[in-house]
Amino acid sequence: MLKEELMTLNYRSTRDPQAATLTASQAILQGLSPDGGLYVPTEAPVLDLPLADLPAMSYQEVAFRVLKAFLTDFTDEELRDCIAAAYNGTFDDAAIAPVSHHGNDYYLELFHGPTIAFKDLALQMLPHLMTVAAKKNHFSKETVILTATSGDTGKAAMAGFEDVAGTKIIVFYPNNGVSPIQERQMITQTGDNTYVVAINGNFDEAQTNVKEIFNDKAFAAQLAENGFQFSSANSINIGRLVPQVAYYFSAYGQLVATGQLQLGDTVNFSVPTGNFGDILAGFYAKQLGLPIHKLICASNDNNVLTDFFNTGVYNRKRPFKTTTSPSMDILVSSNLERLLFHALGDSASQTAEKMHALETAGQYSVSPEILTGLQTDFWAGYATAAADKQAISDVYHQTNFAIDPHTAVAKAAADQYRTAESDNRPMVIVSTASPYKFPNAVLAAIEDTPVTADGLAAVTQLHDLVGVPLPPAIKRLFDAEVRHHQTVPPDDMQHAIREILHII
Ligand SMILES: *Cc1c(COP(=O)(O)O)cnc(C)c1O
Repeated sequence: MLKEELMTLNYRSTRDPQAATLTASQAILQGLSPDGGLYVPTEAPVLDLPLADLPAMSYQEVAFRVLKAFLTDFTDEELRDCIAAAYNGTFDDAAIAPVSHHGNDYYLELFHGPTIAFKDLALQMLPHLMTVAAKKNHFSKETVILTATSGDTGKAAMAGFEDVAGTKIIVFYPNNGVSPIQERQMITQTGDNTYVVAINGNFDEAQTNVKEIFNDKAFAAQLAENGFQFSSANSINIGRLVPQVAYYFSAYGQLVATGQLQLGDTVNFSVPTGNFGDILAGFYAKQLGLPIHKLICASNDNNVLTDFFNTGVYNRKRPFKTTTSPSMDILVSSNLERLLFHALGDSASQTAEKMHALETAGQYSVSPEILTGLQTDFWAGYATAAADKQAISDVYHQTNFAIDPHTAVAKAAADQYRTAESDNRPMVIVSTASPYKFPNAVLAAIEDTPVTADGLAAVTQLHDLVGVPLPPAIKRLFDAEVRHHQTVPPDDMQHAIREILHII
């Protein structure tokens, strides 16, 4: 097909069968559909990226091909500008997402961005996609990004949106649900348009309230009168999801380029999963033709997804557990709704029914046929606190490589998979955070003694032990000024927003 003939790819809600379709730029501006659903492509994207070309391509070029397949109402020039703004000079490794080899595993290192965790890959890009999208749609209102974070999203979003013209960003995080380093990263955030509020509650409460605030039509009208419009930087925004598809292709290209994989051979990816955004990007990569055998959905003690992929029942009625991998402490994985929609044959009415059941009864189930279909692409396992700790210790003592507790969950699940399925294909562990982001848990695992140091003292202790150079983003934290101090009960989130925007 000639490039000029490529069709426009439109987006629709996962819930309302009658809902109008949107262009990609409109879906990015909208974030969440007004009916509560998420935006998905109305047909399969067309990717112009022959596998044979991958090994020689830069990360930026891979990202360009992937974005072009999904965001068809952006011009080539607009996409290249967004990619340059996101990935030129903002990462501390020229490969952006380098693959390293330790023991039997490959590690896709997604922690070389400004906040040393994987969300930078998407959140360095999203503000630029939004700015272009706003111009394209003759948008005059100021965009207010509203985000609930379990630790990483909030900081990464603020780092991306800091002082981007025409935007404000308000971040809510659970007071005791993030690591001291994550908290310090957030409360020291600079920029005239960034606001950080702690809540006395957990991540699910923060996320549920943010969703309710988004769906409050009266509030939206009031915002509009005051020149504001909400949007989301959470992984439900397709502008978050699409850039993530690129690193699966890039990883494959790197493995072929270094001779560790033959072109066309299949690989497995083990993905530490919370809101299901990262692994869903892997699913889209597979749909687009990347030779992935299995996507291993790795959970911590909050193992809702493990049960879902093994039994077909999604049941959120269980205690919420606080773990050493807080970015995965989630009972409602929002992006799973997109997979469910596709698994149900792109049926919005069936998806809406299941989501309604989840909201009202706390659970839903899929038929055995649908479950079997899901199991061809996914395998699921989870790591207890003890298994997570053991994985960090084993990898360090066997290969001298320090991994963070999220990466360790994926490593533990990868090992479970290999044992259960006797599959020795190359395994790529998606490595979502630097060990310096969670120094206490890493130290406790490696030294196997209780760690008394906290926050920056623990960073120093870990650095003395493992000797991996401190990322610039961590160095800066040592003398950064605390700029954000507010804590509110979950029920006062809307009030906090009103105060920030001066809407009383
Ligand atoms: C967000 C996050 C995850 C989970 O990714 P999802 O896309 O929400 O599934 C895993 N690890 C780290 C370090 C994260 O920040």
